[in-house]
Amino acid sequence: MRYYCRRRRRQPSYERSTTMILRAKYVMPSSHEVFENGAVRIVNDEIMDVGEFPRVAQGQGEPVHDLGDIALLPGFINAHTHLELGDLAGKIPPPASLTDWIRRIIAVRPEDADAIHATVAAGAEASLRAGTTTLVDITATGHSLAPLMASQIRKRVHFETLGFDSLRSEQSLQVLRSRLDSAGRDDLTTIGVSPHAPYSTSETLYRECVRIQAEQGLPMCSHVAETVEEEEFVRDGSGPFADLLRSLGVDLDDWAPKGVTPVQYLHKLGFFESSPLLVHGNYIRDDDIPILRDLNVTVVYCPRSHAYFGHSDHPFEKLFALGVNIALGTDSLASSPSLSMLDEMRFIVDRHPHVSPERVLTLAMLNGAKTMKVRARIGGLRSGWKADIVGVRIPPGASRVPERILSDEATVILTMIDGKVCYQAAD
Ligand SMILES: [Zn+2]
Repeated sequence: MRYYCRRRRRQPSYERSTTMILRAKYVMPSSHEVFENGAVRIVNDEIMDVGEFPRVAQGQGEPVHDLGDIALLPGFINAHTHLELGDLAGKIPPPASLTDWIRRIIAVRPEDADAIHATVAAGAEASLRAGTTTLVDITATGHSLAPLMASQIRKRVHFETLGFDSLRSEQSLQVLRSRLDSAGRDDLTTIGVSPHAPYSTSETLYRECVRIQAEQGLPMCSHVAETVEEEEFVRDGSGPFADLLRSLGVDLDDWAPKGVTPVQYLHKLGFFESSPLLVHGNYIRDDDIPILRDLNVTVVYCPRSHAYFGHSDHPFEKLFALGVNIALGTDSLASSPSLSMLDEMRFIVDRHPHVSPERVLTLAMLNGAKTMKVRARIGGLRSGWKADIVGVRIPPGASRVPERILSDEATVILTMIDGKVCYQAAD
């Protein structure tokens, strides 16, 4: 197969035709289905057929690419990253608290556009090598959009906004509206909005984001229920976040305690009406769960970032059992050791061995796809869906294929997006 990921490269006509059959020892349309001696028939950017090779290939004249002893499965969906923080990898040791970490980030966060472009481009390439076909990225600077649009990876880029007093909220809102007005879009790029978190984003600014969502139909995302200190700030108006904001010169005279959890507070503002992503959700309370389930909110669990901050056990199993959609994210390299979704899934398998590999894979495939809405047709290998496919070389053995995919010996050797090969390991 030819390597032709870069969008700006002029492609000969034979490369523009992406009609082909991929054959592999195992083909998994979903985490719960395995075809041995399987095949996927692809025409341009879409999957036309999936199943056992003899039936899929019968009567078809497309070239067959036999990939051998590997498993083909839906590409991974990383539902939470901040690629612009990639240069902070390994530079901030685990902090005593999130407020300490935020103070460090404020001091060292990158702002130079050229440096951010290079960092984001490297993050996108690393994601492709790791089998990620879709990224949900947050950009505080706005500089991530251009390098991400130059990558063949499918992506949703959320412009972050924050500000707690009226002046900073108004300034941040103007910047957000300006960025939205000038943002490019294409077949692989959608734009979203991200009010940062209840401790950093004013009530007025959250309401304005809800208004923008209603006007423009843009997807939303926010960091919510991340720490007990956040809950203390929202419920009682006090604690380390109040201290942090005051130390940054923010006037809290207008901030009244809400007397409820962060989820319930944002629910009253209408934030969950558009079924946004709720990132982290480490401290979602029992009486928050019906709100999230009934409004189809997706909670994004970032396993290794969660462990880095030393949080209590994440409630993802309870949320899953009660009908809340759970997706997975790596978070940024400032709090996670890699951008690999396989690494995140292996971490879950290691820490939660009673959770089946099939269920863990579902979090990174179909559940992630639900965040991108039905039109995206990703997260599974189905006729009429996008040809977003990852090929994983798995160790031999008698254990089930999903178990072998999540073993330490498994490696990504192929990443295909929209029917185009974006990464192929050297032989
Ligand atoms: Zn984040």
